[in-house]
Amino acid sequence: MNKKAVVVFSGGQDSTTCLFWALKEFEEVIAVTFDYNQKHRKEIECATSIAKELGLEHHILDMALLNQLAPNALTRDDIEIKVSKDGSLPSTFVEGRNMLFLTFAGVLAKVKGAKHIVTGVCETDFSGYPDCRDIFIKSLNVTLNLAMDYDFVVHTPLMWIDKAETWALADSFGKLDYIREKTLTCYNGVIGDGCRTCPACILRKKGLDNYLLSRNNK
Ligand SMILES: [Zn+2]
Repeated sequence: MNKKAVVVFSGGQDSTTCLFWALKEFEEVIAVTFDYNQKHRKEIECATSIAKELGLEHHILDMALLNQLAPNALTRDDIEIKVSKDGSLPSTFVEGRNMLFLTFAGVLAKVKGAKHIVTGVCETDFSGYPDCRDIFIKSLNVTLNLAMDYDFVVHTPLMWIDKAETWALADSFGKLDYIREKTLTCYNGVIGDGCRTCPACILRKKGLDNYLLSRNNK
């Protein structure tokens, strides 16, 4: 039984929760972080320090070409971060990003002899990213298997849960405070509870408040 997994790891709340999930599920976990010239270099620093602290093998892959292909608010100062109100994609959207990340994670997994790939994509707070959908993940899993003649299993522990349930999952591992303090989700690059005003911080705080409220009412 192949018990080795590669986790797509950005240093944010979701992927760090997935990392702890994988540490429970698999004997060996390798973290992979993608550097696509994020404005906030802290994302990479955050991922690096968490991986180091957990004693994990950590790869940082250069994906700078992504910005060359699809300029977006995460990499460019001249593009404002906006949440869509009309159902169109937000300005933080990077066309094809998850497809590319997962494909590269697949190549790394095969090279490392790992059968399992773990990603924190989620359809519940669906923000319109087509390559975060479950149907896409299943399709890519088949494609990766055919492309490399290998039996990958792509795991998506967060696919059907919301932000409050993601906090509950972290808490079930005893890692709620760890994730709250050490991860970076904020678009303004503020670690932990963040700037409290950007769309990512608002979503994260709402989920945390809902979870803590339900926990305290138990
Ligand atoms: Zn923020």
